[in-house]
Amino acid sequence: MSVIYGKSVPGRKGVSLPSCDVPEDHSIPEHFRRTTELRLGELSELDVVRHFTGLSRRNFGLDTNFYPLGSCTMKYNPKVTEKISVLEGFSALHPLLPQLRRCGMLTQGALAVVYELEQLLCEITGMDAFTTHPMAGAHGELTGMMLIAAYHKDKGNRRTEVLIPDEAHGTNPSSAAIAGYDIVTIPTGDDGMLDIDSLKSKLSEKTAAIMLTNPNTLGLFNSRIEKVAALAHKFDAQLYYDGANLNAILGKFRPGDAQFDVMHVNLHKTFATPHGGGGPGAGPVGVKKHLSPFLPVSRIAKRTDGTYALDYDFPKSIGYIAPFYGNFAVCLRAYAYILLQGKQGLIDVSEHAVLNANYVLSSLKDHFHAPYPDGCMHECVLSTRKQLPGGIHAIDIAKGLIDRGFHPPTVYFPLIVKEAIMIEPTETESKETLDDFIAAMKEVASVAEESPDSLKKAPVSTPVGRLDETKAAREMDFSYIE
Ligand SMILES: *Cc1c(COP(=O)(O)O)cnc(C)c1O
Repeated sequence: MSVIYGKSVPGRKGVSLPSCDVPEDHSIPEHFRRTTELRLGELSELDVVRHFTGLSRRNFGLDTNFYPLGSCTMKYNPKVTEKISVLEGFSALHPLLPQLRRCGMLTQGALAVVYELEQLLCEITGMDAFTTHPMAGAHGELTGMMLIAAYHKDKGNRRTEVLIPDEAHGTNPSSAAIAGYDIVTIPTGDDGMLDIDSLKSKLSEKTAAIMLTNPNTLGLFNSRIEKVAALAHKFDAQLYYDGANLNAILGKFRPGDAQFDVMHVNLHKTFATPHGGGGPGAGPVGVKKHLSPFLPVSRIAKRTDGTYALDYDFPKSIGYIAPFYGNFAVCLRAYAYILLQGKQGLIDVSEHAVLNANYVLSSLKDHFHAPYPDGCMHECVLSTRKQLPGGIHAIDIAKGLIDRGFHPPTVYFPLIVKEAIMIEPTETESKETLDDFIAAMKEVASVAEESPDSLKKAPVSTPVGRLDETKAAREMDFSYIE
């Protein structure tokens, strides 16, 4: 299938508008006017419809197939939350509508959604206050780091370093670095846990914060977390929780109870909102009381008469971190999703997510190397160490899965596991789907053993085969549109 320009036939038209019968407007200065024709494709309406319908049928997504991407939680989200997010009473609101007085009735519902979502997130995570403004997980991390910087500055603490384990998601060190901190890496022990002795030796009066993910990116829960918190707090270092993915801990563990001071949640991973292709998302940030004066403005206040208003009167606030109020529609979906599940529903989410991941791990650990074979939380990590002597890498397994109808899991992350394959089945998939996936993984493992060369050619069922991905990104072919 060629791109749409390749189907262009000179003179063919998709519209038949009457010719212009008003005088041309010459108010645009000469030097701003086009001198060449717009190079658009010339096609009929039917050509265009068939082209894009054809493309859409090649889309791969959760609505078509299983998508077991580790860390990024590609789970099915109910369509009812999509429907709610486009209700006109919400989607047609202008962000500058007055909150109270005239027209105030129009905005009260939206303000109530944000206020109540903040309360629900506090309840779920054990934090004292939330802002829903950050527009992605990484944006939440940066906001959290700015809050920590503001806290230390306010106290007169001179802090320059943030401690981060070597298994952390790449956004952790980058967010801390953008906030101005030096990154100190903490190694992970053979048990997949943070090396506490190394942490102790690196903690000092220079430490602004420790950023942790728990369960970590290896899918393992660190039960010594309170010890880490006590160590951090001895130095007044703030404990940051990367809650991009809460799928394993809903109703089971609250970062706030484990003495974390600040955290973000990716609504687009745990609480509805499909998130392929880069967004939109939302990364609300929760804090303990001592950090709440620094939260971004605006914040939502509930007045004694039951109405809601935006409050800007926080002199220590770090200010604005997003236009208006963040990605409101994403927050609305999350609010609807949480209410839809209810307390027991959220507990079920976590239990099923963890059960599914353990089912995949135990079914595959004899076919692939499993660095942590004894159980996992919501995701598990395998590697192709067994297949490596035969010349098979994680990428070959990933490409082989495509021919069997599955989106590949995350590969080559976490960085500390050589040839890593990271699988997150999520709670929304059935046992039948997991069994099909497990069968496909086993089949690929046996092809890797019996005819590794054929696996090197995968995928063979897609419009394009294996690409030189670096070249595809660096040397794009623009010939059709130039
Ligand atoms: C996805 C993810 C992030 C970053 O979230 P974005 O919304 O992609 O910016 C951070 N940490 C972890 C563990 C993640 O899985």
